[in-house]
Amino acid sequence: MKVFKFGGASVSTAERIQHVRSILEQYKQEQLLIVISAMGKTTNALEQVVEAFFAGRKDDALQLFAEIKHAHLQVRQQLMDEQHVDPVSLNDFFTEAEWLLHDHPVRDYDYYYDQIVCLGELLSTAIVSNYFNHCGIPNVWIDVRDIIRTDDNFRDAIIDWDYTSAKVNEEIKPLLEQKKIVLTQGFIGATAANESTTLGREGSDYTAAVFANLLDAESQTIWKDVQGVMNADPKHYKAATFISKLNYREVIEMAYYGAQVIHPKTIKPLENKNIPLFVRSFIDPQEPGTCIHNKNTEHLPPIIVYKYNQVLVQLNSKDFSFVGEGLTARLYEMFETLKFKPNLTQNAAISLMVVVDEHPEKVDQLAHAASEAFGVTIQRALTLLTIRHYNQNLLDELCRDCEIILKQQTPETIQVLMKKADNEN
Ligand code: ASP
Ligand code: MG
Repeated sequence: MKVFKFGGASVSTAERIQHVRSILEQYKQEQLLIVISAMGKTTNALEQVVEAFFAGRKDDALQLFAEIKHAHLQVRQQLMDEQHVDPVSLNDFFTEAEWLLHDHPVRDYDYYYDQIVCLGELLSTAIVSNYFNHCGIPNVWIDVRDIIRTDDNFRDAIIDWDYTSAKVNEEIKPLLEQKKIVLTQGFIGATAANESTTLGREGSDYTAAVFANLLDAESQTIWKDVQGVMNADPKHYKAATFISKLNYREVIEMAYYGAQVIHPKTIKPLENKNIPLFVRSFIDPQEPGTCIHNKNTEHLPPIIVYKYNQVLVQLNSKDFSFVGEGLTARLYEMFETLKFKPNLTQNAAISLMVVVDEHPEKVDQLAHAASEAFGVTIQRALTLLTIRHYNQNLLDELCRDCEIILKQQTPETIQVLMKKADNEN
């Protein structure tokens, strides 16, 4: 069997959903599980709803939600006549959300985030499943929250593999054996108490990989609006080139350094079962795309990753004593508490430098907490450039006209923190 994942861009409009339908025409006879994201930028729009709700701006929250609701109803209307519409599905989700938004927040932000943001995938899959059933791609819609069990670490929930695996065997396998196409949501799950959870932004690649692993899929395909994996983001590097073959390790490294190719958790479940991952274009479905597998790949081009909006936090020992292990350990505890991940760290004799994403609140909290033990200086609006398989020419080219603040290198990878003349944030 195969697992397909269609991202938000592939279902952002009625035309695109129709196009996905035409791609599926040729896979109708296969055993197929399809994971679909929220439509277009719905997740971002729902984040705005959560923000308004949590800040006590109930009317704004309801208004913003009404816009999302309207957009979905409009797409559905473009896809189907009234008589083909399954009346129950969307209304239940709308009502659920509106109820919640009429309340006052009493629990923490992340909890509400997950209860509201999960609606994006529920709405998109309900519409797409309804439409496919109506136009010749019979499928069974599954609420993935009944299958994927997680802990209650809202917004970054961890999957309970034992429970999930049992559910997949009980509920999903029989459907596939009956040759039914299963259509479900990525990115979301539920706790034992039936509260909705999410797996981290862009998490539906990961959901698809979880299913691929548990179903021993022959392959997983991520359908995107790009040709496949590129060696750089073409928006930031004009000479970006397409890569036809990559191995799991390289993709993990790329994701680790911030390339927005594939959700970093996606690879492990596939690697464990040696399942190839294809990244293909839904715009040019006849193209083979990138194949990611376990074999060694030679002659990779340099891989370039930019992270903009970086902050350098420099911690200096107050009494000029060495920054000992105790202090470093304390710093890592602070990161742990703040759920904040350093992108680069460098130790010197009496100072310690950390590069982090610009999260004004967290940077402030970190600076405040660290100021008890260190003198703290902060430098903002920096760019972190990472090049794997680098060469000097490329490095010179990419660092031209930039002020270099910090450099770290291994034989494989170089990272440069710099102030760009034209900081593209
Ligand atoms: N809809 C979610 C997001 O935009 C998850 C995903 O698309 O993978 O982050
Ligand atoms: Mg997405």
